[in-house]
Amino acid sequence: MPLPSLADDLRRAGVGDVRFDRAHRVLYSTDASIYQIEPLGVVIPRSVEEVIATIAVCAQQGAPVLPRGAATSLAGQTVGHAVVIDTTRHLNRIMEINAEEQWVRCQPGAVLDQVNAALRPHGLMLGPDPASGNRATVGARWQQRRRRALHPLRRAGRQPGGRGRGLHPLQAPGWPDREDRPA
Ligand SMILES: Cc1cc2nc3c(=O)[nH]c(=O)nc-3n(C[C@H](O)[C@H](O)[C@H](O)COP(=O)(O)OP(=O)(O)OC[C@H]3O[C@@H](n4cnc5c(N)ncnc54)[C@H](O)[C@@H]3O)c2cc1C
Repeated sequence: MPLPSLADDLRRAGVGDVRFDRAHRVLYSTDASIYQIEPLGVVIPRSVEEVIATIAVCAQQGAPVLPRGAATSLAGQTVGHAVVIDTTRHLNRIMEINAEEQWVRCQPGAVLDQVNAALRPHGLMLGPDPASGNRATVGARWQQRRRRALHPLRRAGRQPGGRGRGLHPLQAPGWPDREDRPA
């Protein structure tokens, strides 16, 4: 069961789309895995500020948070007794590409294939290239970041070259420095 005041506290903190009703908890209780766990509730943030507010309220109440992209991971990574943060609805924009310096700035819910379609004319790709790329998001790639990078395309193929640039989260305004964040 959700914590009684959590949804109200989230709304009071300025989070607009808070879905703690049974239907949404059931909808978000599955992903591409065999597991099924009802979350405490679901937040669909419209801005970075709403993500920050969600995490702050959940930290205050001791509620776990669980970011969710397309939910195509296969081992139950996006189901849990937590407040699910769905980034796919609104936080999915590609903001800036700098071909010269070989980087792209985008939001976590941006879909990999769309990012790569935007990068392709510049001879770049965000790798690797999963079969689920027409759904899978950049946020999840960042979570799995050790093996993911922005690569120059090699000739006509889509094989990554050797000079990956890596994925890095940006510091949002108002977000506490790493050392000040709750453990
Ligand atoms: C048909 C099919 C084919 C697949 N093919 C491949 C393949 O070829 N190669 C491959 O590697 N994988 C493959 N996968 C697995 C999966 O699609 C990939 O791991 C994909 O990158 C997951 O992306 P997603 O957006 O669905 O992430 P989700 O499943 O939504 O999330 C994955 C993890 O990332 C975390 N996360 C999501 N967003 C954020 C965020 N903003 N901040 C922090 N953490 C976040 C989640 O909490 C979760 O732990 C396949 C899956 C399916 C169903």
